Formats: sequence, structure tokens, C-alpha cells
Amino acid sequence: MAKSCPISTSFIIISVLSHFTSSIGLRPWPDVLPYELQSLDIASRLRVDPDATRMASRDFGRLVHPPNPAAVLYPSSIEDIASLVKFSYNHSSPFSIAARGQGHSLRGQAMASHGVVVEMRSLNNCSCGSGIRVTKNPIWGSYADVGGEQEWIDVLQATLKHGLAPVSWTDYLYLTIGGTLSNAGISGQTFRHGPQISNVYEMDVLTGKGELVTCSKDTNSELFFAVLGGLGQFGIITRARIALEPAPKRVKWIQMLYDDFSTFSRDQEHLISINGLDYLEGSLFMQNSPPNSWRSSFSPSEYPRISSLISKNGIIYCLEVVKYYDELTSHTVDEELQELLKGLNFLPGFVFTKDVSLVDFLNRVHSGELNLRAKGLWDVPHPWLNLFVPRSSISDFNSGVFRDILPKINQTTGPFLVYPMIRNKWDDRTSAVIPDEDIFYTVGVLHSSGADDWEPLENQNKEILKFCDKAGIKIKRYLSRYTTKEDWMNHFGPKWRTFEDRKAQFDPKMILSPGQQIFNSV
Ligand code: FAD
Repeated sequence: MAKSCPISTSFIIISVLSHFTSSIGLRPWPDVLPYELQSLDIASRLRVDPDATRMASRDFGRLVHPPNPAAVLYPSSIEDIASLVKFSYNHSSPFSIAARGQGHSLRGQAMASHGVVVEMRSLNNCSCGSGIRVTKNPIWGSYADVGGEQEWIDVLQATLKHGLAPVSWTDYLYLTIGGTLSNAGISGQTFRHGPQISNVYEMDVLTGKGELVTCSKDTNSELFFAVLGGLGQFGIITRARIALEPAPKRVKWIQMLYDDFSTFSRDQEHLISINGLDYLEGSLFMQNSPPNSWRSSFSPSEYPRISSLISKNGIIYCLEVVKYYDELTSHTVDEELQELLKGLNFLPGFVFTKDVSLVDFLNRVHSGELNLRAKGLWDVPHPWLNLFVPRSSISDFNSGVFRDILPKINQTTGPFLVYPMIRNKWDDRTSAVIPDEDIFYTVGVLHSSGADDWEPLENQNKEILKFCDKAGIKIKRYLSRYTTKEDWMNHFGPKWRTFEDRKAQFDPKMILSPGQQIFNSV
């Protein structure tokens, strides 16, 4: 472990001066941060005013309101972030630091009460991070070197200019590379290509010691695997090398409705076991989660027919698949699809087909977002529950949760997702945690609520977790945050020791991402 830096005479002078300037009101300085921080080059890019610190203690969830950070750094280079981390690491009273991508977390995971939040997007605004650089190599494989602060929508646009695109996505593209790689990054392509963390060749990572390290499967591999799915605990991703493939131009997008869960899930599992489809997801429609949610892509003329089906059955399951195509395959794609979907048991007459561009498909959630924003319904509390459910229990989960618990709340709340994934597309050396079965389902209960009525939805989430516990369903939570070490240890299970050892190795003073509450409490 590196030695603590002795506080030099100049630091003492600056410290005294800082006390003085703050006491005469030149620049108020939070007591919790060392005054010597003001002597660093980055001082002018550190904001301590309430506007900045309030902004950095908000997130998409709008459910937790811990104390604000003491300061927010708007870096103008990766060196700025390195200076900050090094300073904290070498100080006798290290303070916590959280990288913040877009703050799309649900429960304060990108916050740092009394510490410093690093607004990663600032690197994009000044074009001073790693940016997005595409390398086209048809023999060894093409890739994009992308700053951790970049959004996936920008990666899509930049790579398409070269006729290329990443293969693994999230449903929503206004998330940062650093943010999704710290979780996993899942969507309908995961069954085929694995999550986003399975599609990274190399990264530059600034560890909790302030060292900038390049890592990959072969070089500094312990850090590489620690950081992927690592919840921001081991380092700040400043660059990731993302695998690219030739981009298809268009998409055949098909949705099929079912009134029976076992038929629906059997068809889902069949489709992920064969080659040919590029995307597969699934969702539920019921009175409180109708087909016109922000995530839906049905045209309004289709609602009445679907709604009457919901009235008749209570719950309807929607299987959603995609096949990519381009000029070369445009005349065979329909035939191929027919072959792939042969023998499925969806409700006759309830199949809906669309033909859209790749960008319109990948960016499908954005129009729903704009719609909600226009109505003031985007920046509201989001008591989401995201789970991975082992295949062996999904039928019990359907009876206990989808059929019994979810319909109990009758206000319209948001979309509910359910689709299968394959364990061997995930690399067990990463920090991500998934169930111990070859096939598992991701379930997303994506509630939105009014400013003051999120508690019944939170209580329902608790009821779901209690049900799983009682029924012995060995779920793993995704995008969640526990508040006790014991719960985190249970979450990681056999991976806990490795997770803890990696923390001691790469962030021994427990500086990074305190909002996850794994090694720090707020
Ligand atoms: P933040 O919330 O800012 O940060 C998340 C965590 O990562 C924090 O702990 C933070 O400290 C850390 N972090 C941020 N940047 C870095 C970095 N550069 N290096 C290291 N650590 C860093 N997820 C999916 O997998 N699939 C989906 O389909 C999906 N859809 C979504 C749809 C919506 C509308 C929303 C709001 C979220 C969705 N998510 C999805 C969840 C998303 O992946 C997480 O919220 C994730 O945290 C990304 O958000 P962010 O970039 O804003 O990161």
C-alpha cells in the first residue's frame, strides 16, 4: 500500500489561507473536504455550491435522498480525475468519490454523501476524454475505443458511419458506457451475444489508488474482470474497447401474444436454443400494465383488440423477436422468419409485424421517453425491481408474482418484462452475479409513480421478494442496492471473497462508489 503523503509546509499555508478566505466569504469550503484540495489544479473545476451538489444527489429512481456530496468535479481531462483520486488516496482522511454517468441509477448508487461526485459527462462536453474512435479490421475484428463517459446512442451513431455497430445493447441508449459496464448491460441480444460486459476487449481504469491501468483478459486480468459488473468498486472506467460487427440496415420486428405462460415461456426457450434470431424479449400486459406503456411499440389502432383480450384473460404475454437484414438478405428474410417461427403456439391472429431501420429499433424507447417528458411523467419516482429468476422456478414465479401479486395494484404503473438468457454467454470471472442454472429469466417490474404514492409499489416489491424467499426461489437482484453487508455477502454468495479481495487490492481505502453501500454506509 502506498504511504500517506506528508502534509507539506505549503499545504499548511494554503490550508490556513483557505480557512481565512472561506471565513471572509471568498469561496465557502465544506468542512468535510481537506482545504489543501483547493491548491490542486482541479480546484477551479470543483463546485461546492448547492446547485451543483443538489443536482449530483438526484437520480432516476427519485427514491433516496441522502446528504449531498461536499463537491462536484467537472473534469476537463482524465488527469483531473486521477489528481482527485490520488489526492484522496494519499490524504490522512481519504474522502469518497463516485463517478456519475447519467445518474440513471435507482437508489443513489452514483452518489457520494459528503464526498466528491465526478460528473463524467463533462469529459464529453469538452471533448477531452477518450471520445469514440473506431478501428475497422475485418480480419482481427473491428472495435471502438470509447470513453466511459460516452452514451450508447453516440456509440451507435459514430460506429454506423463506418458500417459497424456493437452487438449487445440495453433497451435504452441514453446510458453511459461506464454505468452499464459497471452493472452488466442486458437486452434482447443477451441470449445470443451475452451482456455488454461479455463484449469488451480492453479497458483503461483509474483504480482507487489513482493509478491508470490498461487491462484486458490477458493483461491485468484481475482488474479487468473485477471492473466488469463491479458496481464501480474497483476503478473508474475511462476507456472501453467495445467489439463491433458489420451493422445490419433494417429490422423485421415481430410481436406475438399468448394467454398461457407455459406456452409462452416454452416458445421463448425454444427460440433462444436455435440459431437465427437477433433479439428476443417478452412482456406482460394486464389492466395496470397496458400495451400503450412508454416501452410499447404497438400502433394505437391495435390497442382495442389487445385490450379486449386482456379483459378476457387478465394477463397476456407478449413475445417479441427481431431479425436483422440488409440489401443482400431482403428477399429471403421473410421466408427465413417464417421458418424460425414455425410451430410456435401464439394466439392465432395476434401477431404484429413491423419493418424499421436499425436505429429506430435500437432507439425505440426514446420516443416513449419524450412522450412522458412532455407530460411531466419522466422525472418521477421509479420503484423498479429487476430480478434474475432461475428457469426451474419461473412457472412458480408466474403464479405467485405475475398472476397473484402484480395485479393487486390497479393504478397504471409501467411495463413488466420477462425473457430468458443463457448462463454460458456470461463470463463467471466478472463481478456480475447471476443464478446458478443454464437458463435464467430476467424480470423487470418497471413501476413509475406520482411524487407521493410510490410506497405501495415499494411494498409490493418487498412482497415479491418475500414470496420468492418463502417459495425457495433463488433469485438474484439486478441494479439493486442492499443496505447491509450481510445482504451483499448473500448476494455475491461464493463470489464474495473474490469481490472483497479485489476491493482490498484496487481500492484499499474504500474511496470509490460509496453509494452502492457495499463497503461504506451513508
Ligand atoms: P450511473 O447511474 O451514473 O452510475 C451507475 C454506477 O456506475 C454508479 O455506482 C457509478 O458510480 C458507476 N459508474 C458510473 N460511471 C462509471 C465509470 N466510468 N467507471 C466506473 N464506474 C462508473 N440496464 C440494462 O442493463 N438494460 C436495460 O435495458 C436498461 N434499461 C434502462 C432504461 C432506463 C430508462 C433506465 C433509466 C435505466 C436502464 N438500465 C438498463 C439501467 C442502467 O444500466 C443503469 O441505470 C446504469 O447505472 C447506467 O446508468 P448511468 O450511465 O446513468 O450510470
